[in-house]
Amino acid sequence: MIIVLEKKATQEQLEKVIAYLETSGFSVYKSSGEDGIVLRTTGGEPNFDLRKIEIIPAIAEVYPVEEPYKLAGRNYKDDKTIIKVRDVEIGGNEVVVIAGPCSIESEEQIFAIAETVSKAGAKILRGGAFKPRTSPYSFQGLGEEGLKLIRAAANQYGLLVVTEVIDSSQVDLVESYTDIFQVGSRNMQNFPLLKALGNKKKPVLLKRGYASKIEEWLMSAEYILSGGNMEVLLCERGIRTFETETRNTFDISAIPVIQRKSHLPVAADPSHAIGYRDKIIPMARAAVAAGADALMIEVHHNPEKALSDGPQALIPVEFEEMMKQLKRIAEVIGRKI
Ligand code: PEP
Ligand code: MN
Repeated sequence: MIIVLEKKATQEQLEKVIAYLETSGFSVYKSSGEDGIVLRTTGGEPNFDLRKIEIIPAIAEVYPVEEPYKLAGRNYKDDKTIIKVRDVEIGGNEVVVIAGPCSIESEEQIFAIAETVSKAGAKILRGGAFKPRTSPYSFQGLGEEGLKLIRAAANQYGLLVVTEVIDSSQVDLVESYTDIFQVGSRNMQNFPLLKALGNKKKPVLLKRGYASKIEEWLMSAEYILSGGNMEVLLCERGIRTFETETRNTFDISAIPVIQRKSHLPVAADPSHAIGYRDKIIPMARAAVAAGADALMIEVHHNPEKALSDGPQALIPVEFEEMMKQLKRIAEVIGRKI
């Protein structure tokens, strides 16, 4: 960190600060100029709480220099992580499309949607069997029955499965059906769940908490990585702001920001970010143009009857049209879909 002392700081205060830093394990380098005394430190404990320094009276400013995430950052690994599951690579040249309903509702529903999305070029089938609903009275998902249905539908149409796990007690059950675990926005800081997934050998799609900063999101990824599971796909799904015209505010800028800070691939989920069907295609185009490595799109063949998130689901013809447009956008930036 960089520590700027107040101009009026006394020699005694300076010595106290240096002694405190040294006993906290830092090496301290001092420089003084017209603007006063500046201390630069190296070493020390990871994730040192800067407030411990900020509250010392003679201190004007403290700036962190090191990133708090060790494994998620480009300092740890500059080459981009490519998550490979069978013949699908996420983080490579191809923009991988993940599509499917919000919830798995019935055999007829998941098979119909799987057929549509696979024919249009999606590689991964999404759908929740365990739903983290804001209201306990809303549809909570079909549970294991849903997992069986999504697995069967994906197998039938040559797709991979991503499905949400909402509690650490369900990790083993979900693992036996899915190819990729999904951690939802509401669970981004469910640390026992993240730790449980850190011990697994299957990739994790980690959605951004709707009130989380990018740094907090990367620290959640760090929980999974530090357990030994290096395959995390970050997914921007909109954040809560003062704007009420859309369900959330789609933070497309998170895509290039993450790609600069981290080697992990980034997905974008315009469906949950925007929440209205008519705006999903333009925002999906924007996400691909911004460099997303994967897209997650909700699709339903009968959205009026959907048990969750019908208003944001594309109908099959819209999904097919979107895929055609995205292929052309991907080409412009030297990628493919
Ligand atoms: C979902 O993918 O259906 C979902 C619940 O998303 P989020 O966690 O982003 O709200
Ligand atoms: Mn949904």
